[in-house]
Amino acid sequence: MVRSVPIGAGSPITVQSMTNTDTRDVEATILQARRLASAGCDIVRIAIPDEDAAKALADIRNELDIPLVADIHFRHKLALLALEAGIDKLRINPGNIGSAERVREVADAAKEHGVPIRVGVNAGSLRKDILARHGRPSPEALAESAFEEVDVLGDAGFENVCVSIKASNVLNTLKANLLFAEKKNNPLHLGITESGTKTYGTIKSSCGLGSLLSHGIGDTMRVSLTADPVEEIIVGIAILKAMGLRQAGPEIVSCPTCGRTEVDIISLAEEVEKRAASISEPISIAVMGCVVNGPGEAREADYGIAGGKGEGLLFRNGEIVGKIPEDQLIDALFDMIAKDLNS
Ligand code: SF4
Repeated sequence: MVRSVPIGAGSPITVQSMTNTDTRDVEATILQARRLASAGCDIVRIAIPDEDAAKALADIRNELDIPLVADIHFRHKLALLALEAGIDKLRINPGNIGSAERVREVADAAKEHGVPIRVGVNAGSLRKDILARHGRPSPEALAESAFEEVDVLGDAGFENVCVSIKASNVLNTLKANLLFAEKKNNPLHLGITESGTKTYGTIKSSCGLGSLLSHGIGDTMRVSLTADPVEEIIVGIAILKAMGLRQAGPEIVSCPTCGRTEVDIISLAEEVEKRAASISEPISIAVMGCVVNGPGEAREADYGIAGGKGEGLLFRNGEIVGKIPEDQLIDALFDMIAKDLNS
């Protein structure tokens, strides 16, 4: 449990992001965490680079309901301070906080607060000895590092551990997670790290996370984008929706357009997507470019429109229910949907 949110053991897969404000700026961090929560974020991670940031956590925690994770590297004192501040989960690697004594201190404090720990193996920061053994941050090296981190906590008597194994290379991330999941049952936090800017990062994350999710692997996830963190939530939820793992409002199906298109289908599809955003029911809406193939392609959808010359057809469950002038098509579609949903 991360505060009120379960991770693993068949719980719904959760979507996380990380604030990029200065954590010591309590107000800005709270505001951004609230924006993330409004976008559908389940868990927010916050970087704790120093003691002032750790101390700011108590005020941040007091103002928010959403579960918070403290992201800590190297300094076990910061983990202890974060626990005192009421953090809900720690992200820390026991392998890089020093002695077994320090690991036990953090493990005992986390146990006392009922707080889980995520160990995060990252291709860019693999331990030197593991890197030397494998020659490169291979999937085997990443998985071995994860096993070791879990074992270090296990030796300290701590088992409430979530694991992430991330690389910016999609296939390495995929293989490393598969290797880990073959041997261990710890919940897995998925992500392609440093995946890039909005478009390419979305594509890389969708490929990597989608592949793992299709193997039944993954309990929580973060899409890392060089963008506003809210974008990470939008993409994360879309990945779960596309994989059939989360119901999140309407599914819009739209045709790619071709030489038969006689209406501005790109604008129509964008307008439908925008207006459908306020609907929470999991209906499907097809937006098709022509009356020749559109109806057939839209047959599976609950509702649909197919454009013709200056007018379009309106569909419900694959049946034509009206012929409407192009400029009234979208209004007619949403009137019909609203009537059905309210009846
Ligand atoms: Fe082309 Fe019509 Fe198919 Fe759209 S629905 S891609 S316009 S054939």
